[in-house]
Amino acid sequence: MLVGFDFVQWASDFTTTWIPLLFFFLMCVVVWLLWKTVKLMPRVKPMEITPGSASAVTWADVAGLDEAKEELQEIVDFLRNPEHFESLGARVPKGILFHGPPGTGKTLAAKAIANESGARFYAQSASAFVEMFAGLGAARIRKLFEEARKNAPSIVFIDELDAVGQARSGHSFNREQDQTLNQLLVELDGFGQREQVVVMAASNRLQDLDPALLRPGRFDRQIFIQPPDLKGRRAILGVHMRGKPLGEDVDIDAIARQTAGLTGADLANICNEAAISAGRKDRPALTQADFDYALERVVAGLQQRRVVTDKEKRILAYHEGGHALVSHLVGNQPEKATIIARGTALGYVLHLPEEERYLETKEELLAWMVMALAGRAAEELVFGRVTNGAANDLEKVTAIARAMVFEWGMGESVTSRTMRADNYALSEETKRLRDSEQARLTDHAYEEAQRLLSHHRVALDRIAAALLDRETLSRDELVELFQDVEPDSRSAETVGVVRALGADPTG
Ligand code: ADP
Ligand code: MG
Ligand code: ZN
Repeated sequence: MLVGFDFVQWASDFTTTWIPLLFFFLMCVVVWLLWKTVKLMPRVKPMEITPGSASAVTWADVAGLDEAKEELQEIVDFLRNPEHFESLGARVPKGILFHGPPGTGKTLAAKAIANESGARFYAQSASAFVEMFAGLGAARIRKLFEEARKNAPSIVFIDELDAVGQARSGHSFNREQDQTLNQLLVELDGFGQREQVVVMAASNRLQDLDPALLRPGRFDRQIFIQPPDLKGRRAILGVHMRGKPLGEDVDIDAIARQTAGLTGADLANICNEAAISAGRKDRPALTQADFDYALERVVAGLQQRRVVTDKEKRILAYHEGGHALVSHLVGNQPEKATIIARGTALGYVLHLPEEERYLETKEELLAWMVMALAGRAAEELVFGRVTNGAANDLEKVTAIARAMVFEWGMGESVTSRTMRADNYALSEETKRLRDSEQARLTDHAYEEAQRLLSHHRVALDRIAAALLDRETLSRDELVELFQDVEPDSRSAETVGVVRALGADPTG
């Protein structure tokens, strides 16, 4: 008799006992691993501030954001007295987005609003949502809004919105981020008319945000917070020097003047470094020497960030002054001129469109080109050389001139046909003609800008000096500066009266 290995028996034992056992064991390992990661996960609790808490930030702590503050006061008023606004049938914007470079006081302003309005404040940084497990980010958002609704009137503040709000790429790498974003959109849409919850968010880069976030009914009110100008810097320094004993030799104005291009956070940092320096030297008060030291230290730490030197500032003042003066001369009153950097532009002149326009006459386009080239023309006129600061202007002018000749039949000799290569094959001769037409348009615009500026050199010097002194000039200040400068008649004739193409044609 063979007492052999009973394969059939073994196999059936294996399937009924061993496989389930193995399976069970594996499950245990998985559960244990999950548990460990969950425990390691940072516990993100939303920061909750109840009205009147001690660490509260008030308007007095926020300096220099006067334009933004005015706009925000409306929200504060609403949250303080929602019934009143509702009885009037008023609808207050639900979603407010602060955007601007880091360190300009976006988070600070949000905290101040919370405190001033006496509303409950639920704040959470969006970067905390995305590191989470599938679904958890979305759940947190839901929870955050649930709490805020329960305790209305309240403010939900989502800081660093870029972390969840980045434009979705076609092939989504990060489904978790998408889910979180979707949940946020759902919450934003889910507000009833009567709910007294205001949603605020901050982002460093508006252009990277998913356009879905910016649609009406969501973050449809956007407030740009820009680096402070001279007046703003002085005010911010004032806030951060408050409560610090100051020596008599401290010259706040001088410090403000030396810090063009720095943000509120940098200025706070300078004040703090100065206090540390005074402490180390055992001084009873902060002296100018402490501030000089701090300035050097902070500025050196910012190496790649631009601090505009005096020489650069002079060039900028003439460049932007040139744009503004020529705008005025061709009959297009600028809203604002500044030599404070914004985005990649070192300064800019802002025009508001008087009406929405899609059709432009040739004269208007030419006048626009003259304005756009006036920055470089002013540099050349005054300093006898040009900088690379006009690259952006040149690019835009080239694009317009090209479109005028290639597409719109607005060249000087060729006026009734388009010359786009994709329509039909162009002969070499036509191509040459096309290029020379384009160059002629641009050259003429540049010559016109030079002519206008040298003719009005006195006014150019005047606006450059004003920009150096005040850094930003408002519409009223510009009107006053140019009050005795008549719009150029020849220019008005040849160039026509301009209405701007849109905001900010002349960076
Ligand atoms: P952001 O959120 O725009 O990156 P923060 O609001 O976090 O900048 O600002 C950082 C710090 O810089 C603030 O806590 C404050 O000390 C200082 N600061 C920035 N802007 C201002 C300002 N306008 N007035 C006063 N302090 C400011
Ligand atoms: Mg912030
Ligand atoms: Zn320019």
